[in-house]
Amino acid sequence: MTFQTLNLLDGIQRAIADIDYTIPTPIQEEAIPLLLEGRDLCGSAQTGTGKTAAFAIPILQTIALHRDPKKRFPTIQALVLAPTRELAMQIYENFVLYGKYLPLKVAVIFGGVPQRPQVSSLQEGVDILIATPGRLLDLYNQRFVKLQDVKHFVLDEADRMLDMGFIYDVKKIISYLPEKRQTMLFSATISDEIASLIRSILHDPVRIAITPVEEPIEAIEQALYYVEKKEKIALLKDLLQDSSIKSALVFTRTKHGANRVATDLNFAGIRTEAIHGNKSQSARERALALFKAQKIRILVATDIAARGLDISNLSLVVNYDLSDVPETYIHRIGRTGRAGQSGKAISFCSQEERDQLKGIQKHIKMEIPVQIHPKHPVTFQPVMMNAPVIPTTSIFSKSRPRGRRPGAYRGHR
Ligand code: AMP
Repeated sequence: MTFQTLNLLDGIQRAIADIDYTIPTPIQEEAIPLLLEGRDLCGSAQTGTGKTAAFAIPILQTIALHRDPKKRFPTIQALVLAPTRELAMQIYENFVLYGKYLPLKVAVIFGGVPQRPQVSSLQEGVDILIATPGRLLDLYNQRFVKLQDVKHFVLDEADRMLDMGFIYDVKKIISYLPEKRQTMLFSATISDEIASLIRSILHDPVRIAITPVEEPIEAIEQALYYVEKKEKIALLKDLLQDSSIKSALVFTRTKHGANRVATDLNFAGIRTEAIHGNKSQSARERALALFKAQKIRILVATDIAARGLDISNLSLVVNYDLSDVPETYIHRIGRTGRAGQSGKAISFCSQEERDQLKGIQKHIKMEIPVQIHPKHPVTFQPVMMNAPVIPTTSIFSKSRPRGRRPGAYRGHR
């Protein structure tokens, strides 16, 4: 299937062609025709599956087709709620991209920044509004936002809305929407609470479940460096000497760690920015924009800050610290080597992180190839995946066969 077979407006086709999308992703192929028919949709799909275009394209098309040319002042026809400012921005950018040849106004509002410019854009008239729940309620209560004409409502990343404690705000916003509308809900996971939300706000929805288009892990060139904790920064600097690394996303476990790595790299002349929860909204946006425009080579991030962000074209992901959650390893390294590009993922493992490494290797069912850097030797024992786990008591217990040293057990299969 191609985008031509989806019967899209000429303006949308051209916009899509401009950005070189040729084939719809599976969620787009399934969702776009059904959404154009006006059906409600419940999608269990994550960022990375192309879900934004899957809902943005039909919304743009339906509004453009039913637009009353005599109406001079647009009113909000579509409302998209997203849990974070970054995601709201990304969705907004997508709408602008696909709708660039259509006479529709798109606006985005989120907290953490002054409300004045957002109010001005609302006062100019908006067809499609992307918002985070808190700021939307604020502006609604100040009567800057009117929701009585909303015909399409999208609740994106509903599970995260719940995790972040926005559910009360979301339910309140939904109570302000017209009953007769099209509703689309996306959630990576469907918990009991989400299932009950689905039952209460969706009408006879189509259900689409898409697993993320993660590159198979085999397609990513992985490497592991054992390294003393205090040597990590020196090793990172040495590895980044390689000028073929055009951009790298470096994951740290803590916000403090992210700041420290960024400061150290900047000090060494490697332009770096850090993003994490303690950074102001404008600082995060600036960092991400600089990184996307390849004006800085290195972005250091915590998992929370990087989650949900569309950071593509990465030549390298560095696990500066290993996560305690094995699945996180796959999420992190999946950000490199997307869309057929070659990708590389380097992980650092200190003596203190050997348990995390064991967990990761068990999860990915493979041993990450070890690399040794001549300038950074280590003295501790590597993790041996297939080494038998011998309870310490049996090694040191009196019943241990005479003459056998503990080390002699190593390597038994
Ligand atoms: P999303 O899941 O909406 O965050 O999209 C993930 C990435 O896929 C974004 O960078 C989109 O620009 C890109 N994308 C979405 N649809 C397509 C498509 N049909 N062909 C190529 N890239 C796409």
